[in-house]
Amino acid sequence: MERVYNFSAGPAALPQEVLVQAQEEMLNWQGCGMSVMEMTHRGQEFMEIVAQAERDLRDLLQIPTNYKVLFLQGGASSQFTMVPMNLLRGKRCADYVSTGQWSEKAIREAQRYCTVNVAASAEADDFRSIPPQTQWRLDPRAAYVHYTPNETIDGVEFNWVPDTDGVPLVADMSSNILSRPVAMSSYGLVYAGAQKNIGSAGLTIVVVRDDLLGEVLPGTPTLFDYRVHANNASMYNTPPTYAIYIAGLVFKWLKHLGGIAEIERRNIEKAARLYAVIDDSDFYHCSTAKADRSRMNVPFTLKNAALDEVFLKQAKSCGLVQLKGHRVVGGMRASIYNAMPSNGVNALIDFMLEFEKTHD
Ligand SMILES: *Cc1c(COP(=O)(O)O)cnc(C)c1O
Repeated sequence: MERVYNFSAGPAALPQEVLVQAQEEMLNWQGCGMSVMEMTHRGQEFMEIVAQAERDLRDLLQIPTNYKVLFLQGGASSQFTMVPMNLLRGKRCADYVSTGQWSEKAIREAQRYCTVNVAASAEADDFRSIPPQTQWRLDPRAAYVHYTPNETIDGVEFNWVPDTDGVPLVADMSSNILSRPVAMSSYGLVYAGAQKNIGSAGLTIVVVRDDLLGEVLPGTPTLFDYRVHANNASMYNTPPTYAIYIAGLVFKWLKHLGGIAEIERRNIEKAARLYAVIDDSDFYHCSTAKADRSRMNVPFTLKNAALDEVFLKQAKSCGLVQLKGHRVVGGMRASIYNAMPSNGVNALIDFMLEFEKTHD
């Protein structure tokens, strides 16, 4: 079977060039006689792989030297726990902004450790827009402000950075990291699971300003302490070695392409074309506020929901897969991360126009 265009929200499509290189290097990485999967994480070869991956990530995101880069396991969901455990630093409350399903999960977990002040919530609007900062009620005593720049399920994305007046800003960038420039110095901590825009599942990247480390909640497990990972260059225990290697290949791929500026240009272009098709028709619909639409995850519905199954089935037969919306919101969702080529979006658009013609 030929390769399909995979619109999965995660684990998501990887750049074909990366998969081909991984295949070429599968049995014998750069003449060392073994696969990266078989390497000790303490050996010179793997140390080189992880150091290069970190350098390239720092380069791409222009991460200042007073920020640590950690390569962890446990997924973004573990960060819902690790963030309060590490960043409360003796304080009792934290601000959270709720713009969708992932914000809600982060809030529920943080409530186990502190008083959560929901500074703003888009729930009353069914998470179809982002509350402007003028409506936020931040608590100056908060240890940090947590938000979700891109809501993978609801398809809303911030195109601005909150101003927290010096309180450390924490961002769950799982589904839009590396898709647009970030001013890292605006953040105290950024985290992202790898399986959307970085690489394969099993790796979670944390970028944290070093002055925020050092005071964990009593009883924090060793592996949940950022300091432990920072002091051991992410090698306190065995890191997800192969996932780090794949992430490193993706970073190189991005750099060769022209870096964040170029991928952002492509992402803007891909998303604009897809939303235009949806907006120009009465057959497809997207209810997200235009200014807050995600470039990465495009949710839409068909005028007649009875056609959903036919749409998905026919799309699949055309090599367009994983277009079903999340079970919580229903409808369709096309995830068009960095690795989705422009031709994949073209193929989806052609299919949608044809489907509309034959089923309207
Ligand atoms: C996918 C996702 C998560 C959860 O990631 P896991 O690695 O499955 O824990 C959290 N936040 C956002 C924004 C996501 O897209």
